Amino acid sequence: MKNVGSLLIVFALYSQGLLAATTKLSAEESGNDGNSQSGDVVVPRNTKWLAEVDLTQVPKTPVRPVGSGTCEDAKCDGSDNDKCFESCGNKALPSDIYGCPNSQEWALTFDDGPSNFTGQLLDSLDQLNIKATFCVLGSNVKKYPEFVKRAYEAGHHIASHTYSHPHLMSLTNDEIIYEMKATEEAIRDVIGIRPTYVRPPFGEADDRVKALMKSMGYKILLWNVDPTDYDVYSLPNAAAKIQGAFKAAANGVDTGLNSHDEPGYISLQHDLYKSSIDQVPDVIDFLTKKGYAFKTAAECIGDANPHAPVIPEGRLKAQSNAEEEVKPVDANPPKEQPASLPPSPPAQEEKKESDNGKKNEPKTADLPSPTSAASITHPSAYVAFFVFALLSLLS
Ligand SMILES: [Zn+2]
Repeated sequence: MKNVGSLLIVFALYSQGLLAATTKLSAEESGNDGNSQSGDVVVPRNTKWLAEVDLTQVPKTPVRPVGSGTCEDAKCDGSDNDKCFESCGNKALPSDIYGCPNSQEWALTFDDGPSNFTGQLLDSLDQLNIKATFCVLGSNVKKYPEFVKRAYEAGHHIASHTYSHPHLMSLTNDEIIYEMKATEEAIRDVIGIRPTYVRPPFGEADDRVKALMKSMGYKILLWNVDPTDYDVYSLPNAAAKIQGAFKAAANGVDTGLNSHDEPGYISLQHDLYKSSIDQVPDVIDFLTKKGYAFKTAAECIGDANPHAPVIPEGRLKAQSNAEEEVKPVDANPPKEQPASLPPSPPAQEEKKESDNGKKNEPKTADLPSPTSAASITHPSAYVAFFVFALLSLLS
């Protein structure tokens, strides 16, 4: 990408994702994806979260403002990739996940949701008994908790995509921690687990961001197939373009995104776009006929525990006062029948999520029913039960 002349191209470059150090950018996840989350969303902040993260392994490299990594004459040959990260993509680390390591395996992943199209997507996946990975935004988890619960209980993989979809490299360590912990809290309040995979928005993450994510217990999940639904979703031929990207990869065409040369694929779509979700049944049909088996991103790399039990608050070193204690849960979601869904709420602009600086107590009113394996139980319930049992015995 040497001809970065127009504003349009500069904007496109801002949206680029992560590529190998020796490859130039092609189409990737975009900021032009219909969400201006980072500008509209207030990210909950709880200073207690900062003390929970060990920063000793995080490089003290400077914050990189958006636009500071664009080079008009980027070589992208490894010599200037770091400086020109927005033109060339960040350096791929061995631990970064791009594709499935086994051939004939495919992980469908969906970013930026949930949205009011996620129900349709879950219907399609249910009908075909396919499990996928959902990289959710914490802000949208709060807007559409029923879809997160349904996806989790159906056996899908829930990963973090941050709270407000920022350019992470432009944030301080503290701001990144708030993004991740606020998302963890939103997910925990709905399904009682902590995600262990993160897809950095725009695929942007340098060594500092990756080390920080690792210290918080996250694996970096990227992709090696990108149908660029964010670019083509409104085109008359969106269906052909989106399906074409899947077919090309399945037919062995180099996607230009496979930094680790894995023979299996992890594809990137967004459950923000109906025209992208509409292609899922046909894509699954085509890839199935090509011999691909569908797995979640975690499954395809052999990870049997894609979600972590929530750490009880009492174990946190930063605990200073009484918090809701969260009962650890089985990281494997139960295969329950999905609950019937309420009507999808209309898409609406984010107004506010919570008050900055205030403690963010878990909202017990929002918690799932105690019969769910993903439920969170207040310790006082145990005390009440114990007292009741004791009185029963004595009477
Ligand atoms: Zn995204």
